[in-house]
Amino acid sequence: MRMTVCVKQVLSTGEVRMDPVTNTMIREGRQSVINPFDLHALEAAILLKERLGGEITALSMGIPTVEALLRDAIARGADRAVLLSDRAFAGADTLATSRTLAAGMGLIGGFDLILCGKMAVDGDTAQIGPELAEALDIPHVADVCEILTANEYSIQVRQAAGYGFCTLEVALPALITVTREANRPRMPSLAGIRRSRTAPLRLADSGELALEPCRMGLNGSPTRVVKTFVPVRERVCRPVEGSPSRQAAALLDMVKEVGI
Ligand SMILES: Cc1cc2nc3c(=O)[nH]c(=O)nc-3n(C[C@H](O)[C@H](O)[C@H](O)COP(=O)(O)OP(=O)(O)OC[C@H]3O[C@@H](n4cnc5c(N)ncnc54)[C@H](O)[C@@H]3O)c2cc1C
Repeated sequence: MRMTVCVKQVLSTGEVRMDPVTNTMIREGRQSVINPFDLHALEAAILLKERLGGEITALSMGIPTVEALLRDAIARGADRAVLLSDRAFAGADTLATSRTLAAGMGLIGGFDLILCGKMAVDGDTAQIGPELAEALDIPHVADVCEILTANEYSIQVRQAAGYGFCTLEVALPALITVTREANRPRMPSLAGIRRSRTAPLRLADSGELALEPCRMGLNGSPTRVVKTFVPVRERVCRPVEGSPSRQAAALLDMVKEVGI
């Protein structure tokens, strides 16, 4: 099975710094890791490869330092990687990101299954998987918590659907997004780390993609971040005294005051 795992860089500390001019996140020079949900998507691909054979390509759109994260993905079990990196991709919203990743799939060639994480822990829109599937005109199943059966024509999965589960079969090629409950990601092995140092990693810029510049990055993003700010959390302590009924009345007044 030819599989592609979409891997996103996220900052390892929660502190978000925004560029006051473009209102986009500052990622340069910040410690970063593979988005935790993508480790579950990668593990799902490795388990499928162990069952059916095949090849795993890790794909990312990001700044040049994402190369180290893609080599980490190879150390965990991917066979090769593709990094789409260009200033022209900066400030992309989910639509522009999914279009760029779809164009990046053109560099990978054929595929049977694309695996994404359920969501990214920073943007957390969970939009990229479904949008990428639409851009490639293939079916998708979101929130997959178990892959039940798989062969060269289709996969059967269990989907976490609100308070229950759905069992779905989808014909390949397809895309799935994977939840944390699906598996336990393995750590990189020593052999994997050694292999990751020399494994094929293709670096591609906007000129190599079949995508017009007006559909990538900030230019290709209908979402406009008009203002960013770090909310100031104020804690005020107000004693509630008197009889239980007076305390209840005072609490009700406070609830009304803050408009809950
Ligand atoms: C705090 C914050 C809020 C944002 N709000 C919005 C918003 O409301 N609307 C909007 O359009 N954009 C928003 N963005 C921008 C958005 O984060 C980027 O477009 C991002 O590339 C994809 O969206 P996401 O982080 O929500 O990913 P999700 O859709 O949550 O990611 C799901 C999966 O898609 C894959 N994936 C995501 N990004 C990449 C990538 N760059 N390379 C490879 N695989 C990837 C991964 O497998 C990931 O697990 C926001 C960004 C931040 C930091």
